[in-house]
Amino acid sequence: MECIFCDIIKREAPSEIVYEDEDIIAFLDINPINYGHLLVLTKLHFDNFLTVPKDLLHKLISKVQFLAGIVKRSTNADGFNTMSNNGTAAGQRIFHFHFHIIPRFENDFKFNLISKSYDDNHLKNISSKMKEFIEKYQGQFDG
Ligand code: AMP
Ligand code: ZN
Repeated sequence: MECIFCDIIKREAPSEIVYEDEDIIAFLDINPINYGHLLVLTKLHFDNFLTVPKDLLHKLISKVQFLAGIVKRSTNADGFNTMSNNGTAAGQRIFHFHFHIIPRFENDFKFNLISKSYDDNHLKNISSKMKEFIEKYQGQFDG
């Protein structure tokens, strides 16, 4: 299976690595949305957020918090976005799960998202479907 991020981890592809430990690596995004845009990922390959084992996910999110502070300080950013794309519909292009940390500056750009509104019925329908699935899967997830 070809994976450019696995190649970077194995030093078989070039990258500007900023941080690594036993489990986690972070390098600069080659096409940054803003300069200093960082990608943070587990060294083991998992294709999306749902397939990362919980113990590794905890390590990953903890490093994302640490590195978000580093990105903000080192770029003098006013804020930052942390985000992950999961599935092609969500814009995922590299199927080795990663968090983006994107430094943000006052008035730099707007994510051009158009919000919807609910009618009451629809809101309740979606909510009860979620509660149904929570009931069904929570034990499995916590256990
Ligand atoms: P996503 O769309 O969430 O899968 O994000 C993939 C990100 O990886 C994009 O922002 C790309 O610019 C970035 N990217 C792709 N190839 C490389 C590479 N060789 N080194 C660093 N970043 C990369
Ligand atoms: Zn990979």
